[in-house]
Amino acid sequence: MPSSKKLTLDIIIPVYNEAGVVEQTHVRLLALLENIPHDYNIYYIDDGSTDGTPECLAALAAHDSRVEVLTLSRNFGHQAALTAGLDHARGDLVITMDGDGQHPAEMIPQMIKLAMSGYDIVQTQRLDETQRFSFKHWTSSLFYKLINRISGTRVEPGTADFRLLTRQAVDALKGMPEYHRFLRGMVSWIGFPLVILPYKVGERMGGKSKYSLQKMVKLALDAIFSFSLVPLYIGVSLGGVMLLLALAEMVYVLSFWLTGRESSLEPGWSSLMFVLLIVGGMLMTVLGFIGVYIGYIFQEVKRRPVYLLKKSDSQTGTKEQ
Ligand code: UDP
Ligand code: MG
Repeated sequence: MPSSKKLTLDIIIPVYNEAGVVEQTHVRLLALLENIPHDYNIYYIDDGSTDGTPECLAALAAHDSRVEVLTLSRNFGHQAALTAGLDHARGDLVITMDGDGQHPAEMIPQMIKLAMSGYDIVQTQRLDETQRFSFKHWTSSLFYKLINRISGTRVEPGTADFRLLTRQAVDALKGMPEYHRFLRGMVSWIGFPLVILPYKVGERMGGKSKYSLQKMVKLALDAIFSFSLVPLYIGVSLGGVMLLLALAEMVYVLSFWLTGRESSLEPGWSSLMFVLLIVGGMLMTVLGFIGVYIGYIFQEVKRRPVYLLKKSDSQTGTKEQ
């Protein structure tokens, strides 16, 4: 990281229905950025908000030429909104953070310092002791255990999408145009120098979490299926075990015939039916896993954009099909 030249900083903040909250985040952020010796731009990505967020953001942009608003044509989800921001950022350093005030802007100077000392990724990690017994904490720690066990990419527990990326890291991410995006895994996958910076998560400044259970499950599935082939191997292994059992059964039955004891064989219709059903079930499970991967391949080969911009701010956006 060249420290002689004046660095430019971009802050990317995806927002979805955060009217009344995003203004508070903005004020807190500006107070902090005023004391930083770098030129900066703030990109708000409106992820298809249906409340007063577009008006709030327009007011912020009208007061400050360093504030830019990108509006997605509908709610594409947090990861897609972040991607839109990363695609548009031009700065030497890019910081992504939430618009609800849960990511302390006060950490930015320290993050920049670490980037200047040679790290391409400064990844923050939340220490949320207060929520230790909450459903979210429990499911999230289970998820991180699982993903670290079944994928080859290390994802630190409690790492949110509050991080600094150097231009080199952003460009590397832009070279990964996959549709199912799990940025926490992707930044780790690119393998550039990464440092973890712990912080205490704050309360939301208002509103409520936009990560519904459904969105959390989708993110977990995106992570599991785009970073691991283990589910497929489990399916194949189960299929293999069933085949071995079928072989053993065949040898067993044959032994009756070879020793002339076939008359003592039970009619066996029910047990045969049982095995048949089990094998059928296993085959279907395996086919199901394969189906998921084929589904993913299907979406990747279509090269569908991860997001679409509204016409008004589409100068540098992805073209609508
Ligand atoms: N967000 C978004 N699109 C979505 C869901 C969330 O842009 O579909 C934004 C949201 O406005 C916030 C950030 O992503 O700025 C994190 O969301 P949230 O605070 O709801 O998640 P949590 O902190 O509960 O995990
Ligand atoms: Mg939040």
